[in-house]
Amino acid sequence: MKKLLPTSTAGSLPKPSWLAQPETLWSPWKLSGTELIDGKQDALRATLLEQERAGIDIVSDGEQTRQHFVTTFIEHLDGVDFEKRQTVTIRNRYEASVPSVVGPISRPRSVFVEDAKFLRSQTDGPIKWALPGPMTMIDTLYDGYYHDREALAWEFAKVLNQEAKELEAIGVDIIQFDEPAFNVFFDDVNNWGIAALERAIEGLQCETAVHICYGYGIKANTDWKKTLGTEWRQYEEVFPKLQQSNIDIISLECHNSRVPIELLSLIKGKKVMVGAIDVATHKIETAEEVADTLRQALKYVEAENLYPCTNCGMTPLPRNVAYAKLQALSQGAEIIRKELS
Ligand SMILES: [Zn+2]
Repeated sequence: MKKLLPTSTAGSLPKPSWLAQPETLWSPWKLSGTELIDGKQDALRATLLEQERAGIDIVSDGEQTRQHFVTTFIEHLDGVDFEKRQTVTIRNRYEASVPSVVGPISRPRSVFVEDAKFLRSQTDGPIKWALPGPMTMIDTLYDGYYHDREALAWEFAKVLNQEAKELEAIGVDIIQFDEPAFNVFFDDVNNWGIAALERAIEGLQCETAVHICYGYGIKANTDWKKTLGTEWRQYEEVFPKLQQSNIDIISLECHNSRVPIELLSLIKGKKVMVGAIDVATHKIETAEEVADTLRQALKYVEAENLYPCTNCGMTPLPRNVAYAKLQALSQGAEIIRKELS
């Protein structure tokens, strides 16, 4: 029988200090050449071992081979110039210097397939691989070519689909698209964002997920959250259409967020990766706190559809804190498994 409440993480995990500066987004690599290739593979082995020892059931690469969950994918595409930078406002929240789209988008070669093959060779368990979603990609770029957000999203969806098909072919079990932008641009999400995501998963047989969250635990995000009031109802805008979509799994932020848990009723029938670990604090959740979040979610999600998870990626956290949080996640899930049996 399939294990109930399989645990996983939303995305990135801390990198070892010999590979990149800890607790830092976009940290430059500390190695180069073949040393960097070896270093990334060793980091991937270490993060895999840590996940397995912490009791995580669906493991990932912890994004050890990428500097950033969006830009590393874009770097491998044709049509984007990383020298020609422009300052844009990302997710209406913070300014960043970003690359420019200067010509037709294409993917001359696979981006993560070799890394995913390496992860596949290191474990027999189910693996999840994260890709950026089309809308979050266009929000992390200056478009000096298409001048049309929707047109660019469709181009990205096409190349994401090529990448996803290759990941599926080497044995990735779940392909996840990260779409934090879904919590910001509601009209675009409903008009074309979800459709673009469905284009990205076209023809896939493996499971597919979309991760929507309130972002990493960085200051720009925690400041933004303070402006959102006592109830965060952003998911209410996009869940009804996602419920109708072909995406299998929806990954969202729950613990310590002000998301009314009853919004889960809007995605009835979907599998749900319930965020039971807050990535914006160093405080380690107790197993009982995790169990409590899962109990709340179980009022709206069938047990066989519930996947305990973290709220978001954990790159900005110290390594020991992230590890302890993963342990709490699996211990909390175990409490609920016992209650259900
Ligand atoms: Zn996230």
